Amino acid sequence: MLKNIGVVGAGFSGAVIAHELAKAGYKVTVLDSRSHLAGNCHSQRDSASNIMTHVYGPHIFHTSNERVWNYIQQFDEFMPFINRVKAIYNGRIYSLPINLMTINSFFGKTFSPKQAVDFMEMLGDKSIDEPQSFEQQALRFIGKDLYEAFFKGYTLKQWGIHPAELPASILKRLPVRFNYDDNYYTSTYQGIPKHGYTHIVEKMLDHPNITVHLNTKFERNMAKEYHHVFYSGSIDAWFGFSEGRLCYRTLDFLKEYHSGDYQGNAVINYCDQDVPWTRISEHKHFAPWESHPDTLIYKEFSRVCGETDIPYYPVRLVNDKAKLTHYVELAKAEKNITFVGRLGTYRYLDMHVTIAEALDAVARYFEVGASGAIM
Ligand code: UDP
Repeated sequence: MLKNIGVVGAGFSGAVIAHELAKAGYKVTVLDSRSHLAGNCHSQRDSASNIMTHVYGPHIFHTSNERVWNYIQQFDEFMPFINRVKAIYNGRIYSLPINLMTINSFFGKTFSPKQAVDFMEMLGDKSIDEPQSFEQQALRFIGKDLYEAFFKGYTLKQWGIHPAELPASILKRLPVRFNYDDNYYTSTYQGIPKHGYTHIVEKMLDHPNITVHLNTKFERNMAKEYHHVFYSGSIDAWFGFSEGRLCYRTLDFLKEYHSGDYQGNAVINYCDQDVPWTRISEHKHFAPWESHPDTLIYKEFSRVCGETDIPYYPVRLVNDKAKLTHYVELAKAEKNITFVGRLGTYRYLDMHVTIAEALDAVARYFEVGASGAIM
């Protein structure tokens, strides 16, 4: 008899797991409470403009993991795309991540790489030995002026929390470069799927062993219908929020149509604290191989995630981490369930990490079978 596996969530975690299980001969039921596939990676053509839209904000695929890069390309052709983010602060435009162009334009200089290294060394606050917070990390490595211009206001808007209370790890995501390389990512591979992310998930789930139920909320008592459940919903929801709710940030998008080209780039960050949006994405620039006479932009606003909102960023402050520790203990005591993905493990995961971890989760299941393990 085929083993019957439940997969909760049709984002990348769920889709990869379902695909691998189906290929191995398992019967898989995928359930998602939303009306579409691909979770927050969902992309679709806008009905008015026909522009491929990243419905839940910009998603640029990047990875240095060759296994993941080869894996994802089974499902679509990846078009060359390099994310070159610009930032507006105090009425001027700069290049991100901080690179030689940013430093020279910001300070009105024409530094060579070596001169810029010496200059930045002078700007950094050496009294901070081991930066603990986002703010300390910034002050130590880029100094007060660049920190206040590019990070303080943006981060306050993005997280609703002062950078002094955020972990240094968030800033460590962003490099500082002493050359003119303005590629936002340092990954070896980068691109955007020609037919969109939802197309990839559709292909992953297109298998005779897989049944998909959209608009279907998973209830815990449904787990008994399956030999094992891979759960990519929120871990706190699984336990009925018994240890309290984990905090997330959610995003709102204000959609506008314009003629021609609105900003000449896919993403522009707005770093001034008094501009209410964090960034503007112009979706046709995510698909430069297509041609559209007019344009669609999303102004992006971040706020606290309410109970009925869509969670985006796990906040992971000290009290969240304490709750998470309790949930992980509870998870370990469960049987026949694996918690996966951003919501299942309460970590901010890029797409490529989600995919790598999903592949690992299935491999472990094949090896050891049912467990209460959390990734
Ligand atoms: N950040 C910032 N200014 C910017 C871009 C990023 O202050 O113009 C900070 C912000 O706190 C953000 C973090 O750096 O959350 C990580 O940036 P990244 O671009 O990785 O954010 P994500 O892609 O997660 O939205």
